[in-house]
Amino acid sequence: MAARVDSLRRELDAVQRLRSENSDDDEHDPEGATTSQLWSHSAGLVADAERELSELDAALSRVASGDYGTCRECGGPISSDRLEARPAAAFCITCARRGGAGPRRG
Ligand SMILES: [Zn+2]
Repeated sequence: MAARVDSLRRELDAVQRLRSENSDDDEHDPEGATTSQLWSHSAGLVADAERELSELDAALSRVASGDYGTCRECGGPISSDRLEARPAAAFCITCARRGGAGPRRG
């Protein structure tokens, strides 16, 4: 699990580096449009990575409190297949399908 987190953080780091490189001016770049298309694509990747990281942070605090792998809706176990595919999953597949997006709070 720690290795998974580590690789995700490395990935995010790479994406953030890409973002700062992209903010440099490229006045004489003949392929400006291509660059901006790439940028728009990588901005999406950054947003995805940031969301994933924040989900992962939440998962890590569940690891710390011993709740990792336990569905926050029904309290049942989250299958290891699901955790494999989605390490930050907070809900079992049944609740995820039924509840749609957005955990309830409060
Ligand atoms: Zn559940």
